[in-house]
Amino acid sequence: MNEKSQAEAQRRAKLLKMRNERLPDIKKAFEENQKRNFNANFAPGGKDEALVRHKKVAKAAAKPVTTKKAATKATTKKATKTTKATKTAAADKKRDVSLLVSTRKGEMVHHQRMLSQDVNAQATQHIIGIPVNKSRYNGFKGAQLTISQIRSARPHKDAVRIIPIGGLGEFGIGKNMTAIEYQGEIILIDMGTLFASEDYPGVNYMVPDSKWLDDNRDKVKAILFTHAHLDHIGACRHLLPYFGPLVPIYATPFTIGMIKKQMSELSEVPDMNYHEVEPLKHENIKLSEHLSCEFIHTLHSIPGNASIIIRTPNGNIMLSGDWRFENNPMDTPADYDRLLEISQKEGIALLLNESTNIDTPGTHPHSEYDVGDNMGRVMDHYANGRVIISCFSSQVKRIELVLKEAAARGRKVAFSGFSMINNVEVALRAHSIKVPKDTIMKMEDIIKLPDEKIVIVCTGSQGEMNAVLNRMVTGAHRHIKIKSTDTIVFSSNPIPGNEPKVMGTVDGLLREGAQVIQNGRTHLTNIGPLHLSGHAYYEDHVKFVTDMNPKNYMPYHGEFYMLEHNAEMAENVVGIPHDNIIVADDGDIVELMPDQTIHKNGRIPVGNKLYDDADRQVNEAVVKDRIHISREGIFVVILTLSKKTGRLIKTPDIVSRAFIYLDNSEELIGKIRHYLRAKTDHTVATDEDIKTLKEEIKEDVTHILYDATGHTPIVIPVINKV
Ligand SMILES: [Zn+2]
Ligand SMILES: [Zn+2]
Repeated sequence: MNEKSQAEAQRRAKLLKMRNERLPDIKKAFEENQKRNFNANFAPGGKDEALVRHKKVAKAAAKPVTTKKAATKATTKKATKTTKATKTAAADKKRDVSLLVSTRKGEMVHHQRMLSQDVNAQATQHIIGIPVNKSRYNGFKGAQLTISQIRSARPHKDAVRIIPIGGLGEFGIGKNMTAIEYQGEIILIDMGTLFASEDYPGVNYMVPDSKWLDDNRDKVKAILFTHAHLDHIGACRHLLPYFGPLVPIYATPFTIGMIKKQMSELSEVPDMNYHEVEPLKHENIKLSEHLSCEFIHTLHSIPGNASIIIRTPNGNIMLSGDWRFENNPMDTPADYDRLLEISQKEGIALLLNESTNIDTPGTHPHSEYDVGDNMGRVMDHYANGRVIISCFSSQVKRIELVLKEAAARGRKVAFSGFSMINNVEVALRAHSIKVPKDTIMKMEDIIKLPDEKIVIVCTGSQGEMNAVLNRMVTGAHRHIKIKSTDTIVFSSNPIPGNEPKVMGTVDGLLREGAQVIQNGRTHLTNIGPLHLSGHAYYEDHVKFVTDMNPKNYMPYHGEFYMLEHNAEMAENVVGIPHDNIIVADDGDIVELMPDQTIHKNGRIPVGNKLYDDADRQVNEAVVKDRIHISREGIFVVILTLSKKTGRLIKTPDIVSRAFIYLDNSEELIGKIRHYLRAKTDHTVATDEDIKTLKEEIKEDVTHILYDATGHTPIVIPVINKV
């Protein structure tokens, strides 16, 4: 590996040296070339005759001219002959045109190969196929699953099949979706989105895609949702419409409200069969002939959160959903007694437990109330200015606290950000939050109040470029421009990967003279925690899994290392036997048998569909082109040939985007024009000729560009005949 990169470095150094040595010559040649009339100069006796080795060309060109004459009169037979003749001429020509380059073609090809490997690696992170999984917990004692194993897998008739369709071991947490199948009855749990990273230019989010599900849609008896975060409901508007009004959808009232809001964004809102579930009723909901479920109220960073028990003929399967422990919650305390009751009386055959914060040691050190108190302290501390609080829009319980603290100080609160306003509306309608009287105001009214009466709650805590907070910084916000008397609170932690963007927003705010208070930086302001993670920490998991005492264990909702660490915790700390723990990937079929053993048995095809911010699907090939262009640029040459003579009748047009700035690249452009003229200094008669010519130009121009710049942009030759 080291040797390789060293060799590559040497290669590049050599290239650079060669290029620098050549530069004066090229420069001189082009200064002369700029002044010339190319076509005339290349003609026999012209100044540049030598450059195109005219004698040979003239000889070859003689053929097509005569044959063309014949072709105009002649039969098909003769026409075929003509094509052949021109082709030979064109082939001769290829050898004739000098590219004036000093790099070998092989070097360019090597560069192109490396580039396309990079581009493919970047653009295919979401492609699942058969994942490499040699984990000790992979269900095959660490041996990699093979294609023949998949092919020979037959479903066991009496097995309950647990199939993660999304959310396991991908690059980022999201796209959660699980199927449970028993004798042709399928239950789906969650339909989430995964936000695409910057590796995917122009892609906003991804949605689970499964051919198996498409083929088995008729077998789906019910769809359940644990809670309303986008990584659990974000794909609803893409997937739910396919199920039609007969399939019942079960979720808590707040979650149903959020799903309906999602669905209302569709141009045609489908009729769906929504059922609101009140988890505290402990209702056993019959979903199909063999399967039933119960929702259990648990706590997370959003109202209406639940764990789900699926009762199957082979025992209870528990899906933890997203959860955290809270000693002093704002919400109704988690129904932990019911969970204990089920685990002790009925037993849990298989627990699917989320993995998000498995790497964070200890337990939550504080409660939401502490966060609320600290918001109040900020309002007291910075009593003379506006307080602008930025948090996740789904944190409606925290918003309730902000309202309370503001009301106690005679401040009014306005909301900004599409999702923020939406979520508060849904929360009000589902009675998930209490609002003090006369505290909420519209943005356009609140700005008429004196600054010390104003609190604004907005989105943008992750540094998103187009979210409210950044718009306030740049002055693009309709109502608010940041002032030096403003205090901005980041009531969140940056999601891993978002740190640079968040710091960019913080810098922008500080440059405007504002006071910025970020969670986790207590030493700067002496103001304590301003955020509480929605996910359990390590010790919480230990307690939870120990208490649930499941027969079998399967980590879910996490990247691969999280799943692996979660499995280790279950084996080493809780003491679940190694063989009863499985680290699965999206698409793996895990079978729970009547004797309550589990094993993997084959795979279903799963993947992702990519969508842009206008909710339109993006093809993978488009993403690859975008990555290629972002790295190397695009270069278009437009040739206009005479229909009559087949020769160049106009100076070639050249368009360069994201590659080189044309005004500063006269020499290189001159060189390419020069090449193009030489290349088209013969008759191009047939479509076949044009195709060949295009291919050759593409290759040669790429070579010239690579020679001059070390880059291989996408070269597009366009040939018009007039
Ligand atoms: Zn969540
Ligand atoms: Zn989640």
